Amino acid sequence: MIDAYRALGTELAGDKIAVKHGEKAKGGFGMIITEYMCVSEEGLAAGLQAAWILGKRGHKVTVYEKEPVAGGQYRLAAVPTNKQDHAQIISACLEFCKKYGVEVRCGIQVTKERLEKEGFDEIILSTGSVPVIPRFIDMSQENIYTAQEVLSFEKMVHEKRVLVLGAGLVGVETAELLAEYGNDVTVVDMLYKAAPLAPKRPRQNLMEHLKALEIKLQLNSKVLSVNPDGIDLECDGVSSSLKGFDCIVPAFGSRSNTALADSLMGFPNVHLVGDARKAGDAKKAIYEATQLALEL
Ligand SMILES: Cc1cc2nc3c(=O)[nH]c(=O)nc-3n(C[C@H](O)[C@H](O)[C@H](O)COP(=O)(O)OP(=O)(O)OC[C@H]3O[C@@H](n4cnc5c(N)ncnc54)[C@H](O)[C@@H]3O)c2cc1C
Repeated sequence: MIDAYRALGTELAGDKIAVKHGEKAKGGFGMIITEYMCVSEEGLAAGLQAAWILGKRGHKVTVYEKEPVAGGQYRLAAVPTNKQDHAQIISACLEFCKKYGVEVRCGIQVTKERLEKEGFDEIILSTGSVPVIPRFIDMSQENIYTAQEVLSFEKMVHEKRVLVLGAGLVGVETAELLAEYGNDVTVVDMLYKAAPLAPKRPRQNLMEHLKALEIKLQLNSKVLSVNPDGIDLECDGVSSSLKGFDCIVPAFGSRSNTALADSLMGFPNVHLVGDARKAGDAKKAIYEATQLALEL
């Protein structure tokens, strides 16, 4: 985190990137840039990062966020145990936005019509990602919650038997939180390893913590269908069921949220960054946003 601050606060805030408002963009498109807009999670990762750098470079920048608060999915990344310091990056970006005159407007869902009306010179879309929900899951089933709903405390689950589907980072971190809230948690995944993409040391700590919390990991098990109180699954070619759960939390990964981008087909000045371009992690989102903001 400290390194991230250095990158955000020191390196990029250096005078070398400063460009006055109205100047030709460095390596840009041969046009005079007068105004930018980032539609984002005003959330950290991509949108705010691009915004404050462009603000620093002298452009007039507005960030729109449909949720009432800034932070995007990275706010949720900061909820699990030992990850609270992730939230500091959001605060740092917001501070830089304030310092460089970026207008951050929350609670506004951006539409094509709004963009046409406002007539921005450049539009940066960092609209993030949405959870992947396989067809065999009926989200209208009342005891099925997304990991995002659990991590944002939109759905509160206490002292229940909970089944988490998917043992990627989001699945196991959600399981961790649920177990800390007194739930009896089982996590199912078709892979042999939980959180396979997590870096080695944090993964080791995470696995030890899952064990201490007595979270049950049922790996090498493919979910076939979801029932009112459990699932049917297949393990080594043998079918079986897990039953008796109060609540089911699918965490099958994310896919790009391209709803707004799709509606803007034909707009010449649209740039996609972060999860909206390809679902990944915050590091990738920040990198793409930084690169774009320095190029424009
Ligand atoms: C539980 C969890 C844990 C994670 N842990 C980590 C981690 O440890 N390390 C890591 O690097 N990454 C982690 N990630 C991934 C990381 O959070 C994302 O990769 C990153 O937030 C992507 O940033 P983004 O700006 O592209 O999109 P997002 O953060 O998804 O932000 C998109 C924003 O756009 C807004 N939006 C969408 N459509 C509109 C619209 N029409 N108008 C206005 N606003 C709109 C949304 O409300 C949202 O705030 C985690 C993710 C989750 C869910």
